[in-house]
Amino acid sequence: MKYCLVCTSILWGILAVAAPLWSAAEEPDDPFQEQRHRMVDRDVAGSDVWGARTPVEDERVLEAMRVVPRHEFVPEQIRAQAYADRPLPIGYGQTISQPYIVGYMTELLDVEEDAVVLEIGTGSGYQAAILSPLAKEVYSIEIIDELEARARGVLEKLAYDNVKTKAGDGYHGWPEHAPYDSIIVTAAASHIPPPLVEQLKPGGRMVIPVGPPGQVQHLMIVEKDEEGNIQQRNIMPVRFVPLTRAQE
Ligand code: SAH
Repeated sequence: MKYCLVCTSILWGILAVAAPLWSAAEEPDDPFQEQRHRMVDRDVAGSDVWGARTPVEDERVLEAMRVVPRHEFVPEQIRAQAYADRPLPIGYGQTISQPYIVGYMTELLDVEEDAVVLEIGTGSGYQAAILSPLAKEVYSIEIIDELEARARGVLEKLAYDNVKTKAGDGYHGWPEHAPYDSIIVTAAASHIPPPLVEQLKPGGRMVIPVGPPGQVQHLMIVEKDEEGNIQQRNIMPVRFVPLTRAQE
């Protein structure tokens, strides 16, 4: 009897330590967990039937995508489709990007743990939430006031406390927190905005789709070396909603 009591108290001790760790990483009763893991394994880390796309391999990125509840970032009435590998409408003519593209762009960004990151095009807030566990601070700008307010609400509710958003034209960047180690633009720009290049830290990297609205654009990597020289590389064809400009 005495032995059993000792066992029981040891067991409770283990549970008391382990339970908070478990729930911090993932909601145990999340009905979407299985769908989300399948999405990551099949659509993000897996290759397509034609073998045409590069699977995402960065474990930190894949783990973030296994944990962040994508369904919380899509409108209630289309939640059932949250884990399909395609973009979904989020209102105001905008979309939450396809999971594969989010994973691939995040991998290309190569974010380090102590990085300060800027995102242009908050949209639903999902990409910012994926960046949250990978970086020290994330700043994100959205041009549509209503979307910014909604994304801020979701990010606050889910306690992504190192993410700050603001409403405005991201073309000008967010000089107060510059320079940035990494800048990700999630709307297609007709050209690389010079203020963003200026706000990139030497040694920093920007990932940005560049090209005409409504047509195929090029996903580009823009790098600034320690001397401030700029190099750009064309990675692949993509299709994004356009980067719009505020009336000056
Ligand atoms: N990253 C988003 C998806 C972005 S869709 C997500 O994870 O859900 C592109 C977003 O860029 C849209 O919400 C659009 O309103 C916004 N946008 C377009 N032009 C912008 C600009 N100049 N500055 C900031 N945001 C802009």
